Amino acid sequence: MGLINKLKKGLFKTRKSLVEETEKLARGRKVDESLLEEFEELLIMADIGPQAAESITGALREKVKQDKIRNERDLKKAFKEEVRKILKEGHKVMCAGENPYVILTIGVNGVGKTTTIGKLARHFTDHGFTVTLAAADTFRAAAIEQLEIWADRAGAQIVKHRSGSDPAAVAFDAVASARSKNIDIVIIDTAGRLHTKSNLMEELKKIKRVISKEKPSAPHEVLLVVDATSGQNAINQAKIFNDAVGVTGIALTKLDGSAKGGIVLAINKELDIPVKLIGVGEAVEDLQDFNPEEFVEALFE
Ligand code: GDP
Ligand code: GDP
Ligand code: MG
Repeated sequence: MGLINKLKKGLFKTRKSLVEETEKLARGRKVDESLLEEFEELLIMADIGPQAAESITGALREKVKQDKIRNERDLKKAFKEEVRKILKEGHKVMCAGENPYVILTIGVNGVGKTTTIGKLARHFTDHGFTVTLAAADTFRAAAIEQLEIWADRAGAQIVKHRSGSDPAAVAFDAVASARSKNIDIVIIDTAGRLHTKSNLMEELKKIKRVISKEKPSAPHEVLLVVDATSGQNAINQAKIFNDAVGVTGIALTKLDGSAKGGIVLAINKELDIPVKLIGVGEAVEDLQDFNPEEFVEALFE
């Protein structure tokens, strides 16, 4: 299956809740104020957030006034255009420049950090880069093994300490090892933590501080992994992690299991953090670079 088809399949539930519901709503009706109000409600239900919902509905209202939206088809087209605009605003891709390029991966429990790291490592090695993984989730015993399996699959190196040891020390050693071996990319796994626990946020700050002692410009990317099924809570997580350690990019996982993929619009509108990666399944090729154009095409077909 091609990447676009994977994406389409992954966005199936979101397309249903967002695009198909819009079509249903407008079918055979005149596009007027009461329809637009129902449409805005539908957008909010689909987790696109109040700001994005207002911005889209506002733009559509203008077009209705100018008589540019008369029927269901016009409405869908204009809706698609507004979604595209929002997603393209502030879009950035991940691009490795420094050597080693250090990616610190953070997020709450179970969002898909380790899986995303594994897929990303594989993606980089497939493109000829060398990769070192840092097993800095020392909290859960099984976490190190899980990362080792991914390192194996990807043909990446791994730096690990004993379970329970200081995660900052593991991160430091991984960066030092990568420098001495001239490795291109270091990806650091960390233990899941609730964004509301300040001692655990302090631990993340320490990891950052310690890495920068070994390489002052690092980390080059602080990748927050959020689970698309968590809806508006994802926004909260992003705000708090960002305040604590400065997030440079978001990986939005489990879009395939979620009807709440509209959250990507809320992230774009309400936060100043670009979505860089999306996860649309559990296999290696299910992690994709976030491409606004492709996303919109897959969502609206
Ligand atoms: P961590 O605790 O953040 O490290 O999360 P894990 O990487 O261990 O992943 C938790 C679960 O989410 C695993 O069962 C993964 O296979 C699953 N997962 C991760 N990303 C995706 C995704 O994009 N789609 C689906 N369906 N499952 C995912
Ligand atoms: P409780 O909610 O106070 O009972 O805390 P738990 O011990 O159940 O931990 C909840 C989650 O916080 C765990 O799954 C871990 O991911 C994380 N956690 C707790 N303590 C630590 C720690 O010392 N280091 C790290 N990295 N994570 C921790
Ligand atoms: Mg993990």
